[in-house]
Amino acid sequence: MTVIPETGLYAGLSGVNGKPDEVPGDALFLNQTHSNRIVINPIGGENADGMVMPRGFGIPALKVADCLPVFAVWDEYIGAAHAGWKGLAGGIVENLISSVDSPLRWLVLGPCICCECYSVGKDVFEAVAQVEAEGQSHRVDLRANAIRRASNLCKEQFGLINIEECTKESTSLYSYRRNATASRNILWLAETERGEHIPHLNSEMECTSPERRKN
Ligand SMILES: [Zn+2]
Repeated sequence: MTVIPETGLYAGLSGVNGKPDEVPGDALFLNQTHSNRIVINPIGGENADGMVMPRGFGIPALKVADCLPVFAVWDEYIGAAHAGWKGLAGGIVENLISSVDSPLRWLVLGPCICCECYSVGKDVFEAVAQVEAEGQSHRVDLRANAIRRASNLCKEQFGLINIEECTKESTSLYSYRRNATASRNILWLAETERGEHIPHLNSEMECTSPERRKN
């Protein structure tokens, strides 16, 4: 469970065996299709890969097993997007952030397959890596790609929280690349008061607040 500073929100994570957090029963899931489509005020089950809603109107949740889970926090809104190489290439991060016409406060990036583990064909590399200044050819860094896309789009500073864990290397997370599993890690964004306890508060995240990033 990762607390988003000064927002009253946390990002929950449930991986192998459902640990360590319990998924809220009313979490909202989309029918993810590797698209770049964002739904505003979802009811759940829409064919889309991102959603945005006013705070207090639902718990956005994502299912991933190597793709990058992205959460966005504004003053009045929250959002989530499932970003694999197809989604990134199609602009899902840009679509998510530009869904709300106010400054982005936090971008929260969950566990995904790391660059070292994610070898891809030339076609995939060229599709997704167009914004990379440099990079290892035939490997894609989903996390760095998402950050660069968000930074290119946002003129204002935003806080960045990286839950840096490689799904393929971690034994507590599902990874399609590791064993073609049909199971998925679940991540969600909810009000902190909904969490019954916070066992591992921000223990494995790298957090850069807007203030620090100015230096
Ligand atoms: Zn890795």
